[in-house]
Amino acid sequence: MIADSPWVTTHPPSMVDLDSCVTCGLCLPVCPTFRLTGDETASPRGRLAAISAVGENRAVLDERFDEITSFCLQCRACETICPSMVPFGSIMESARSEAVAQLPRRGVRVRRLLLGRALRSPLLLRLVSLLAAFGQRVGALSLLPRVGQVTRGLRRIPLPLPTARGGSWGDVENAVGTERVVLFSGCVADVWFSGVHAATIEVLVAAGYHVDAPANQTCCGALASHSGFGRPAAAMACENIRAFADAPTVVVNVAGCGAHIKQYAAHGEAGADLASRTRDVTEVVADAIEAGRLPVLPQSGRQVAVQDPCHLEHGQRIVDQPRRILEAAGYEIVDVDAGGLCCGAAGLYQVDHPETAAQLGTAKAAKVADAGIDLVASANAGCEMQLRRYLDSGYEILHPIEIYAQAISPRFEGDG
Ligand code: SF4
Ligand code: SF4
Repeated sequence: MIADSPWVTTHPPSMVDLDSCVTCGLCLPVCPTFRLTGDETASPRGRLAAISAVGENRAVLDERFDEITSFCLQCRACETICPSMVPFGSIMESARSEAVAQLPRRGVRVRRLLLGRALRSPLLLRLVSLLAAFGQRVGALSLLPRVGQVTRGLRRIPLPLPTARGGSWGDVENAVGTERVVLFSGCVADVWFSGVHAATIEVLVAAGYHVDAPANQTCCGALASHSGFGRPAAAMACENIRAFADAPTVVVNVAGCGAHIKQYAAHGEAGADLASRTRDVTEVVADAIEAGRLPVLPQSGRQVAVQDPCHLEHGQRIVDQPRRILEAAGYEIVDVDAGGLCCGAAGLYQVDHPETAAQLGTAKAAKVADAGIDLVASANAGCEMQLRRYLDSGYEILHPIEIYAQAISPRFEGDG
């Protein structure tokens, strides 16, 4: 920490990055919170100005700073359009860490325990998942307001609880060099979205890969980092860097997790190396289809509505690959709200800003409903849950890889 610096964490917002904003305002129309409020302090430019003011000791880090930074969804739509390539996501994560470290907040200990510890413990996650599975079956989750709010839109959790951790699939004999791919199983996704893992494994094995999932991997740290708990998030990154040290390619099927792992360069050379070996499942499978390792099915006349998760479109700049996979599955693509706003899922945003999350969720659901197609493809667990919260029960919402797995292998049913 330099003298007179207002920052207290080891990774504070970079003044060089902050200074790269030329205040052109091109980011304002794509920012969901600015679009909803029309307020400059709810825009990317306004947020950068607020963080710069504290960094230059022109303002103090106070409750207002906390409000301005926590109202951001961290959707990174501003990054995609910014001509100066301001790394808004990492600036905001650092600013949130400073706010959490410097301001007393109610519930901060519980949140640190939940995001920094519980998500790293497979045992605790399984215990919570078991309770949630029973809660779903007896209809108890909706009776607990906070829990019901977060778990609404969740798939039915299978019993007995599944796990991909420690598993190995495909032809080990022929799996050499780049033919081996390693599955990132995630924290809650390992149990709650096990159908996506099953489809991912099914398709990758069909493409001739050997797939395995190290048992010692952990949560990517995105939820902790977005919520301002930089230190536990860094510890999780280090655990994953060790767990995936020998993985030629790490395949991720939750867009939010993939976008975060691709930012591990913040954790040094080994982190940058892992980031460079990490690919979204849609990248790997679209390439395998193009290389002729997976079939292209004839058009079936069926349609699928495609929703672009922010952490796929803006966080990883992946837009075409899910569409190419769904076309190869024989579907006609119907874009839902292309270039539109975030759906409002955004980790714990719906707990902190339920009204804004509901406004954005309702708007996104209306766009899906306008498309008039009851099959929706979404490549991010959080977006899938948010869509299910605001759409009626007549819609089937699946990961693109599940739709492709079902098409090439009708015996595959998953758990969607
Ligand atoms: S688009 Fe980029 S440079 Fe322009 S105001 Fe927004 S953050 Fe700043
Ligand atoms: S990350 Fe999203 S909500 Fe936050 S400032 Fe950028 S566009 Fe707005």
